Amino acid sequence: MKYISTRGQVEAQGFIDTVLMGLADDGGLMIPAEIPHITPETLKEWSKLSYKELFLQIFALYTNQEIPDEDLKNMVDKSYASFRDSEITPVNKIDDSLYILELFHGPTFAFKDVALQFMGEFYSYVSKKQNKIIHILGATSGDTGAAAIQGVRGKEGIKICILHPHNKVSKVQELQMTTVDDQNVLNLSVKGNFDDCQKIIKDQFADLEFKSKHNLRAINSINFLRILAQTVYYFYAYFQIEQGDQPKKVNISVPSGNFGNIFSGFLAKKMGLPIHKLIIATNENNILERFVKTGEYKPGDFKSTHSPSMDIQVASNFERYLYYFLDQDAAKVSAIMKKFQDDGKIVFNAEDLVRVQADFVAYGASNEQCLELISKYKDNSDYLLDPHTACGIAAYEAYNGEEEICISFATAHPAKFNEAIEQCDIKQEFPAEIKNLFSKSQHQLVIDHNKEDIVRELEAFYEK
Ligand SMILES: *Cc1c(COP(=O)(O)O)cnc(C)c1O
Repeated sequence: MKYISTRGQVEAQGFIDTVLMGLADDGGLMIPAEIPHITPETLKEWSKLSYKELFLQIFALYTNQEIPDEDLKNMVDKSYASFRDSEITPVNKIDDSLYILELFHGPTFAFKDVALQFMGEFYSYVSKKQNKIIHILGATSGDTGAAAIQGVRGKEGIKICILHPHNKVSKVQELQMTTVDDQNVLNLSVKGNFDDCQKIIKDQFADLEFKSKHNLRAINSINFLRILAQTVYYFYAYFQIEQGDQPKKVNISVPSGNFGNIFSGFLAKKMGLPIHKLIIATNENNILERFVKTGEYKPGDFKSTHSPSMDIQVASNFERYLYYFLDQDAAKVSAIMKKFQDDGKIVFNAEDLVRVQADFVAYGASNEQCLELISKYKDNSDYLLDPHTACGIAAYEAYNGEEEICISFATAHPAKFNEAIEQCDIKQEFPAEIKNLFSKSQHQLVIDHNKEDIVRELEAFYEK
């Protein structure tokens, strides 16, 4: 399996080099040159596998044996040892039409642990193998940073710097990142919003000289490793559904921001997992909803919501979908992305829109609806949704058809976003791991949204 860029200007790469590259050197995103197809017979065999076994089967199709089986197995075992549920991502049945896939049983209580615990092991493995220090640089709206830091803290051969928007992440997210005192971790709290942070990171990665000088590596969802690790639970969840004699159609509803998680679903579907509809759930930052409904992809005004990890205007993985949508024509992708940069929008015609709607439906939940649903599911089903998960449920309620089953993703534990839960007058028990955070001291540098200052801090950290 070789990997190529959505913009067509990068020489084909192997698996490890693809992960190390992160953002493609031509500014595009790396994708497999062809997507392996899983036959229904194989799907049937896979349906009996444990989460970790399934992980190994899926990765075997993508890694070209660049990592020996034994090593990969070790990494997977270590990655998921930190999960509090033996199933890693258990499925919870709410009623005959709704299942909730709980993706929050990792160390930071959000779905990003699933991919980033593995990514930490992967970078540590590569650093040892290549005998070279890896510098991870990332921007976060809260959950990625916490999960990435937990994935690599204290590991030899890796240093990590994470930018987060100052005072725009939840208290627990902030504490999860900043109470880590390992020497290989630097937290920059930037006076700006997430898109400001992401822009700075993108610029540093686009500066190929800087990137190579510092052996800079990405943890953002632009990294194909994250996409691939996330496909595992789409398969796993699908296999946990109880189907009677007359199998029902299965939809999947995904609280979305950067289009990373849902793109993993798109990949799983292309591999042959018979998902009926991929439901994109957003909050009031609804660029993706507007796109699927009107064909116009255009960032709107930034809004702070109860689900800050989805407060994103430019969905960085969107380009991967665009590539497949445009029949894998890299020249067309480049032209459209160029136009997007110039005009600030992409507009699809009516015919194209029909094709988009064959892949996706989308729904944006308002802040108010989000809180209503948290109360409703607590009252009726005794299940406490976090505000991101509630957006997924709103989309499920809007789109799931009669006689269809929906797997709605729970992307975070409610304790992580108690600000919203309190507004519903619900008092929750905090898990001990979260309770303990409040008494620890914080380590972070509050910094202006100024690229030069930030780069100076970075270089000082790398040279330490
Ligand atoms: C990151 C995140 C999302 C959005 O995922 P994307 O891959 O960016 O679409 C949703 N919910 C939670 C809790 C998250 O941390």
